[in-house]
Amino acid sequence: MLSVPSQWRLREQRYRLIGSKCETCGNIYLPKRTICPKCRRKGKIVEYKDFSGYGNVVSWTVVHAAPEGFVDQAPYILAIIKLKEGPKILAQIVDVKPEEVHEGMEVYKVVRKIQEDNPEGIIAYGFKFTKI
Ligand SMILES: [Zn+2]
Repeated sequence: MLSVPSQWRLREQRYRLIGSKCETCGNIYLPKRTICPKCRRKGKIVEYKDFSGYGNVVSWTVVHAAPEGFVDQAPYILAIIKLKEGPKILAQIVDVKPEEVHEGMEVYKVVRKIQEDNPEGIIAYGFKFTKI
């Protein structure tokens, strides 16, 4: 069983993009980093939550064989998205037909159901991306 604080942290991670920013060089990282690879010890790392939620599709794949708990969502689109702020993330693209997806397609973050069939019967929500 997860403690309440850890569930809360998990929830925040599911709904929001939380990364880090190096105030020395301005680079933004996601997932969080504790050391800036560019500035090393000189870098001053702070938490960064101000992602716009906008990005562009870099590459994508259509998943036909979904893992347990995601079967009702298959086939679905899984894409590498380059966020406006720089970092790339792997996320699901929803409300778009696979044939509509193209390189450079502009997408934005939405909150959607992630999983329903978990042992606790709790519906998990998280962020996904859709076409602008
Ligand atoms: Zn830096």
